[in-house]
Amino acid sequence: MNIILLGPPGAGKGTQASRLVESRDMIQLSTGDMLRAAKTSGTEMGKIVADVMDRGELVTDEIVIGLIREQLEGDKKGGFIFDGFPRTLAQADALAELLAEVGEKLDAVIEMQVDDEVLVHRIVNRAKEAVAAGGTARADDNEDSLRIRLMEYYKKTSPLIGYYHAKGDLSSIDGLASMDEVEASIVKVLG
Ligand code: ADP
Repeated sequence: MNIILLGPPGAGKGTQASRLVESRDMIQLSTGDMLRAAKTSGTEMGKIVADVMDRGELVTDEIVIGLIREQLEGDKKGGFIFDGFPRTLAQADALAELLAEVGEKLDAVIEMQVDDEVLVHRIVNRAKEAVAAGGTARADDNEDSLRIRLMEYYKKTSPLIGYYHAKGDLSSIDGLASMDEVEASIVKVLG
């Protein structure tokens, strides 16, 4: 099965993706993680994307599509979980093409519904917890960047809800429930 977890920043996509990796041997493809890794390791691409990411804006379609393309060629295990990708209509079209090229298709798009106040609260908490644990908060987990991340989501990513609904692929679940309940809703969609 190949699935997309769709939802605004802080919706819990990463948490649920990790659970599916454990329970179903799926492969999590998080463009956010890949971009952060590039940033940390100081690659040319990492340097290009650093400021854009820290501000909370989207990096170019070309870069993230390239990252995903590289990952689709290897072992597919229990299938792919796209986490944080696609984030634009152009990325969604590219994903359909890339999957077709490797003889795969999309089985489900799961929209995790949450409200903005909860998102802000979750992200502010995530930043505080990271600092309390002796680490550092993500550079984009601050109020200014968060506002931009939310705006980017509503402007560029939320149109994907209609796009996948029209294709008959969309299932929407309540992302405000407990982590176990959200996991159960996802498992139900996957059948
Ligand atoms: P979150 O969902 O918490 O906002 P992510 O870890 O998915 O965070 O992404 C962090 C940042 O990485 C985004 O704000 C954006 O700058 C960049 N990014 C990640 N995925 C994409 C994508 N598919 N397209 C464009 N930019 C992306």
